Amino acid sequence: METEPTAQMDCLHVIDGKHVSSHNQKTFVNMNPATEQIIGQVAEGGKTEIDWAVAAAKKAYYGGWKHSKWSERAAILRRIGELILQRKDELAMLESLDTGKPLSLSTAVDIPRAAGSFHYFSNLISTLGTEAYPMEAGALNYVIRKPIGVVGLICPWNLPLLLLSAKLAPCLAMGNTVVIKPAEWTPMTATVLAQICKDAGLPDGVVNIVHGFGKDSAGEALTEHPDVSAIAFTGENHTGKQIMRAAAGNLKRLSFELGGKNPNIIFADCDLDKVVDTTIRSSFINQGEVCLSGSRIYVQRAIYETFLQRFAAKTREQVVGDPLQAHTNIGALISKEHYERVLRYIDLAREEGGTIEAGGSRVKGCEKGYFVEPTIITGVSQDSRVVREEIFGPVVTIQVFDTEEEVIRQANDSHYGLSASIWTSDVSCAFRVAEQIEVGLTWVNTWFLRDPRTPYGGVKESGIGRQGGMYSIDFYSDISTICMKY
Ligand code: NAD
Repeated sequence: METEPTAQMDCLHVIDGKHVSSHNQKTFVNMNPATEQIIGQVAEGGKTEIDWAVAAAKKAYYGGWKHSKWSERAAILRRIGELILQRKDELAMLESLDTGKPLSLSTAVDIPRAAGSFHYFSNLISTLGTEAYPMEAGALNYVIRKPIGVVGLICPWNLPLLLLSAKLAPCLAMGNTVVIKPAEWTPMTATVLAQICKDAGLPDGVVNIVHGFGKDSAGEALTEHPDVSAIAFTGENHTGKQIMRAAAGNLKRLSFELGGKNPNIIFADCDLDKVVDTTIRSSFINQGEVCLSGSRIYVQRAIYETFLQRFAAKTREQVVGDPLQAHTNIGALISKEHYERVLRYIDLAREEGGTIEAGGSRVKGCEKGYFVEPTIITGVSQDSRVVREEIFGPVVTIQVFDTEEEVIRQANDSHYGLSASIWTSDVSCAFRVAEQIEVGLTWVNTWFLRDPRTPYGGVKESGIGRQGGMYSIDFYSDISTICMKY
């Protein structure tokens, strides 16, 4: 790796509109995973800092934001979206340095989609109606929405600003105040977003950020805090279980977006060119560090060999390396720990009797940084750990199937249930299979196409609740019925 990082940024907590250090001045190091160079010091918060942030959020809530007009909130959200777009290049660079993802990806996807969430929810609350039920007994029932108070947002590192914005925009839109705990690996864009919120006119204390870790640190303190009404969390299943236990103290409302091991089902009558191109994206985009990755590929026997040959050839063409170069397709994994974990899974595939059809090791020529070749595994059974467990790296398995019934059974044989893709030109088959796959989101002849109005979330252990459109509005508001007799 020759590229030097072009930015250095220290991150403090943002509490009540001010950038503050921890009470004990504790910090941790932020590293660029593509160069292994230190790119900043980050304030390490814990219970004390969470107490400060929750107190600030509570003060801002009762001090005015709770009673703010929807038109005021819509205008601020719109300005936040505009400011994100104005600072797009800077945010995209920070996201790439923090995560190791290609700059081209953060520029094209992460930052515009983050801005899009603020614009979308600004529009949605500007046109929000309500339900009304007149009764023959001479009464009118109508439904209002109230904010729920102080909400904790706990975010992962794979799509830091995009996923934070998808939570923050509806949360603010409904008049709540927030304490954000960004992932410890990716503190930078959240910190800039707090400044953008302030510049857009958001009152101090409405958005607070506490940096730190999860267990026995800022994350856990947030989930245990009695003055926090709800937690919206995206991350691993194991963490979700810990949060659920911690949140039981005051029965917090929970939204969980958790892991996935998503089936990509390819029937023999598909458009193979389109399938190969999209499967490259659904397997390896963002280094495979996407909860929606189609990491279990099932191919019907008649086209299995052809698909494998073409997919493997294209996989070998992927450019892995410097995230700042325009031609790079795949960047660095988030951390040394994660990189070693992904490589261990590839070794495990070999031990489980699998064949590595492409990739299979660290990238040669990249002395520094956590680069893993895009890897295809075949010859493993449905019971093998590489088929069952979320690897969250550029690693996919391919298995063969004969019939619709067989592939439905294989696809559903998982404790995850986030998303699926189905590739076929037979509309009846697409309907039949889509209705039987146990997931929250199914794509037919496409992948990653999202409409912000649609519900998003997982079944089984992939999550609890739905986000998107009115589903987010429901989560971030208390719905009350007023029955008025006349
Ligand atoms: P993670 O669970 O390790 O961490 C996520 C966040 O939780 C971090 O901010 C972390 O500090 C915090 N945390 C950890 N332990 C905690 C605790 N005990 N209490 C409170 N907070 C705690 O997840 P990750 O490694 O950052 O993200 C990868 C995972 O996220 C994958 O499983 C991926 O599938 C999932 N994910 C899901 C979606 C979705 O939409 N379903 C989207 C993106 C990522």
